[in-house]
Amino acid sequence: MAQTVSVVDLFSIGIGPSSSHTVGPMRASNAFIETLGTQPAAVRIVLRGSLAATGVGHGTDRAALLGLVGYTPTTTSADIAPFPGEPIPAQGTIEGLTGAVDYEVIFDPEPVPEHPNCLTFTAWDADGNVLAENVDYFSVGGGFILDREGMADHGDETGVATASHPTVVPYPFSSAAELVALCERHEMTIAEIVRANEERMHSRELLDGHLDAVWDVMQECVAHGLKTEGTLPGGLNVRRRANRLHRLLTAEYEASTARGLDAMEWVNLYALAVNEENAAHGQIVTAPTNGAAGIIPAVMHYCRDFTDNFGAKEARDFLLTAGAIGSIIKTNASISGAEVGCQGEVGSASSMAAAGMCAVLGGTPAQVENAAEIALEHNLGLTCDPVGGLVQVPCIERNAIGGVKSINAARLAKLGDGTNIVTLDDVIQTMAATGRDMMSSYKETSMGGLAVQLGLPVNITEC
Ligand code: SF4
Repeated sequence: MAQTVSVVDLFSIGIGPSSSHTVGPMRASNAFIETLGTQPAAVRIVLRGSLAATGVGHGTDRAALLGLVGYTPTTTSADIAPFPGEPIPAQGTIEGLTGAVDYEVIFDPEPVPEHPNCLTFTAWDADGNVLAENVDYFSVGGGFILDREGMADHGDETGVATASHPTVVPYPFSSAAELVALCERHEMTIAEIVRANEERMHSRELLDGHLDAVWDVMQECVAHGLKTEGTLPGGLNVRRRANRLHRLLTAEYEASTARGLDAMEWVNLYALAVNEENAAHGQIVTAPTNGAAGIIPAVMHYCRDFTDNFGAKEARDFLLTAGAIGSIIKTNASISGAEVGCQGEVGSASSMAAAGMCAVLGGTPAQVENAAEIALEHNLGLTCDPVGGLVQVPCIERNAIGGVKSINAARLAKLGDGTNIVTLDDVIQTMAATGRDMMSSYKETSMGGLAVQLGLPVNITEC
């Protein structure tokens, strides 16, 4: 039996603002070009269903077009033309790393039966011969994509156009109870268990290279977010706050006027910086989704700056531990706001971050499980109601609150004895049940809550 979700797929480097509407479509273009085996002269892309309904706001057309000419979520940034927010003609020529391709983009809001997020590709060579016709890909959340065959197989989710991981791993687990029991039986940490499994799927060099790159991109993302001012795209005119807050906190620090909770203010700052970058279509790490991408980096920055001995090994262990929790939640419930509300996105990220931090503080596997449980439990019922269909309000601030909550959960668990009344598995099941009971107006439709309270135009969103 294989571990269901690899941390290499769970933490992917991509671009904002949406894992399903930006990262997934770019990967679909990458995968389509790869299957052609040659660079086409012309491509038609039909964005269907939700990808058409919200595609312009999420930069879906930009992502899919750049994916045709060699850009991947890892190599794209907001500094590459066509720039985020810039109108893209329905027909034209896109230029990139692998040359130029004539294109046509069609927005068809009629969803296909299989999934709300579908792209259909047709390609021609320079003589007008059809290379491939009406090839469908589905963007199924978290940046994962499926081709039509994968959809038929139900769950052959792919990351960077790679297969799922059928490898037999040495320490299979699908619940937190199984994971903790494995740790205790083999006297290993959660990070060691996950590493042993991952190294059956990838070489050690690939695994460590990926984990290091993820942490590097998280730090670069925060740094870029801290120095960037202005207003976020999309029409809500949300002002970026991280730059000003950084100047205020730096001045307090230099004047030694910081108060007792100044560390929490820095956590807020780190999360704001990441989610403002996400909203501005910048490069981020999907962790485990774009909408909740600020929480894990914020907590890792807290560990780097406010705890002792947080180096490269601790960063890897943090991500491996957090990845185990994300894998269990994704397997048994959901990390998608469209499926279970924001408890699945911000709740999952908070739980993962709490686990990672507790582990690097020296928590036992049982204490790590407690940390993940506390953080997820206190996000239960959190609805998804993004104002204007943009991943900005309440999402950006919610990541700051989620980061602080993770740290509190990690510290509370670390001071405990590793026992609890309610287990992480109980909370995950409760989250799934709560998500099933939640009205669809609170599940990424922008049809309820803050999204309608403010009386602004309603769009459907995905993050
Ligand atoms: S409110 Fe919705 S769109 Fe915003 S972070 Fe939460 S799940 Fe994502």
